[in-house]
Amino acid sequence: MSLKTRILGLAASLIIVASVASWLAYRELSEDIIERWGQQVAEIQVRYDSARLLQSLEREIGLAKQMARSSALVEWAQNPDDASLKNTAIQQMESFRASFRDNSYFVALVANGHYYYNNAANEYAGKQFRYVLDPEKPDDAWFFQLIEEGRDFHLNVNPDTELGVTKLWIDVLMRNQEGTIVGMVGTGLNLDSFLQDIVDIGQEGITTLFVDYNGAIQLYRDRNYIDFASIIKPEGQKNTVDLLFDDPQDKQQILGMLQLLKKRSTEAGHVESGFVTVDGRKHLAGVAFLPAIGWFEITLLDLNTLLPQSYLWPLVAVFLAALLVTLVVFHLIIQSRILKPIMGLERAVEKVREGSFDLPRLDKPDNEIGWLADHFEKMTQTLGQSTRELEAKVAQRTEELNRLARIDPLTGLKNRRGLDEILDEEIQRAQRQGTGFGIIWLDIDHFKSVNDELGHQAGDQILCRVALWLKAGVRPYDHPGRWGGDEFVVVLSPCDQDTLASIARRIHASVEQESRKTGTAVTVSIGGYFCAPDDTMDNILRNADRALYRAKANGRNQVCIDASGDARAGAES
Ligand code: GH3
Ligand code: MG
Repeated sequence: MSLKTRILGLAASLIIVASVASWLAYRELSEDIIERWGQQVAEIQVRYDSARLLQSLEREIGLAKQMARSSALVEWAQNPDDASLKNTAIQQMESFRASFRDNSYFVALVANGHYYYNNAANEYAGKQFRYVLDPEKPDDAWFFQLIEEGRDFHLNVNPDTELGVTKLWIDVLMRNQEGTIVGMVGTGLNLDSFLQDIVDIGQEGITTLFVDYNGAIQLYRDRNYIDFASIIKPEGQKNTVDLLFDDPQDKQQILGMLQLLKKRSTEAGHVESGFVTVDGRKHLAGVAFLPAIGWFEITLLDLNTLLPQSYLWPLVAVFLAALLVTLVVFHLIIQSRILKPIMGLERAVEKVREGSFDLPRLDKPDNEIGWLADHFEKMTQTLGQSTRELEAKVAQRTEELNRLARIDPLTGLKNRRGLDEILDEEIQRAQRQGTGFGIIWLDIDHFKSVNDELGHQAGDQILCRVALWLKAGVRPYDHPGRWGGDEFVVVLSPCDQDTLASIARRIHASVEQESRKTGTAVTVSIGGYFCAPDDTMDNILRNADRALYRAKANGRNQVCIDASGDARAGAES
């Protein structure tokens, strides 16, 4: 895996890990914020709804209580058969009917169970007595139950099959001065319009319902859930609020809240809240107790509607875009600031490894890699410089060694190897140009005895002097050399036979004369040979040697010159 892939992979992983951590933290935080916000909203909503409910009920409840306290009604209730009292009472009832919002009322008497009713249409004018309540009839059970419970005030949602209406009934007990219950009065509110006004407020995501002291649903937009005639149902058969929740924990929670609020019922306006699931959707439930009517109000906020998930999509989009931009920017930075310079450096290292110090221009960003590239460039320059210097020195030394390898250390003349090379060149040149050249072979006479008599060092001195005289005796472009021991060779080129002979003689004479001046006279024997263009090295050396041999054989201290194809042996002294 390349460095780039690894770095980008690592960066992406880190970003994702950091993002997931941020996302979890965000969710935790946002849930907390939503919960706090929801609690506030739920509290406000609960107070608002309670206020609306109480506002529309308070006046009716007040009127009903006033009606229950009416002395005309109380007196008649104690003497229901008194016609005049009844007339007064009915007049009184009718005046209250005009005041009630629903323009209806009911009065039920304990003494004879008579039930009186009239509605907005004044349908029962003169026949307000409707029927006699029967303790055996389930429809009438509410009356007897409330009398038995002795609760002065009660709200009851109940269908009246006799009257063919479903109403929210306000029931107030009527007591005489001794406090004995003599009857019950009240009014009913049309449930449909009431539900519409108070519960079915059409605010999306907000559901309001009211439950009674026992948790039985009293006002709810879905009438199927309403626990009609709650008062007469035994515990366990009521439509209690927990029916709305599927999760047992939620049921527990809501019922727990009701219990808690009952305990704190004196603290007006206190709201409990918590998360619940309704129809598979998460809701925040706010619950408050309304002491004035003895009911609880429950507000359910659908968080998905109020704070839809789509709300978070821009956040996710921003996150993804940020991730993408980060990776692209990261990629570009890594590419230009790290990878490109490193790859350039790698190519440069490769070139140096191959022996080239001419580097391409290196990328040098202002960071550690750039500095490294700069150091590498300078190091390469230094290395190149010293390598060149070293190579030059080696070449110089090699040349020097080559030169020395061809030089005789004692005399400074060419040695045998140097002479071989010169001879080679001359043979080739002679072949190329078809011209001949000369070679002189010189040997000091009786040199052994010089050594023996004067010592080896003196012998060396004589060798050096002979070399000097030899050099002086030839032309600048001739090549004198020491073949070995006391033998010297001179290659003469260009040359003809006469020149060869005259130079040989000149050398012969010069050695004799000059040596005499030194006090140690020596003579030399010289063999000369004029080579033909097609002469080989062997042939040339053999002929020159033969000429020298002849000079020696003829008594030494003389010059013998031969020419190619020439069998004569000339001797001169
Ligand atoms: P000839 O006349 O026949 O040449 O007699 P020669 O004594 O010179 O005999 P030859 O040329 O065969 O002997 C050469 C001698 O040169 C033998 C050796 O002792 C001597 N010699 C060889 N190389 C050197 C040298 O470098 N220094 C000295 N001092 N003597 C050397
Ligand atoms: Mg000799």
